[in-house]
Amino acid sequence: MTTIVELRGIGKSYQTTPVVHALQPVDLTIEAGDWLAVVGPSGSGKSTLLNLLGLLDRPTQGRYVFAGVDVSTLGERERTALRGRRIGFVFQQFHLLPHRTAVENVALALLYTTPSAGQRTTAAVQALRRVGLGHRLHALPSTMSGGERQRVAIARALVGAPDLVLCDEPTGNLDSANAHAVLDVLNDLNADGVTLIVITHDPDVAARARSRVHIRDGSVTSADPRSAPSATTAKAPA
Ligand code: ADP
Ligand code: MG
Repeated sequence: MTTIVELRGIGKSYQTTPVVHALQPVDLTIEAGDWLAVVGPSGSGKSTLLNLLGLLDRPTQGRYVFAGVDVSTLGERERTALRGRRIGFVFQQFHLLPHRTAVENVALALLYTTPSAGQRTTAAVQALRRVGLGHRLHALPSTMSGGERQRVAIARALVGAPDLVLCDEPTGNLDSANAHAVLDVLNDLNADGVTLIVITHDPDVAARARSRVHIRDGSVTSADPRSAPSATTAKAPA
């Protein structure tokens, strides 16, 4: 098996007054092909963890090895390049460009990695078909349902064939029918081998994942300690 994420004693404090210890030191290992849900209430440190996992922010302690690369040794440009090529993001707010069609929104994600506009479009069409939107290629976001918009955002996260897709509350803005459609897509992608980490406060979303950890007041604890088959481990520091 290939280890994609290895966190060793990773923690984060915000140097505000007073200091906020948003994430207590955590060990976490994620293998290629896993679908991990990180579940916890609002303010528990979920987005902090996602931002560290996604190289959007730096920890205040610990070591992070992503796809075999010790990212704590990298400079900002290398981190940005690694993130751009190997990590896809899906957020609660879909962050689509309103005056661009679905296929344009997805193709734009390849702007800095794929010089050929034709290749960018071809890849975007494929990604949109993968999320069941082959019939909505030229639709503008304003004409799409929330679930469709989030599937465009998922296609955009996927189009560069990342090693890891990180989702922060992907169904947080959706009604239950649209949330189910999005979860079905995530399920299909994971069945196809895409490695997912989904951050959520919704236990129903967490139930769909292969493995779960809980986070509360910045402390990550294993949610299913008896699920031996999963290589995912999380524990609070001793
Ligand atoms: P969640 O995503 O689970 O709602 P967050 O990770 O956003 O939680 O926040 C965890 C804690 O860290 C909260 O107490 C929040 O107020 C605090 N926090 C988050 N971002 C910052 C920041 N940039 N500066 C200071 N405190 C922050
Ligand atoms: Mg959050």
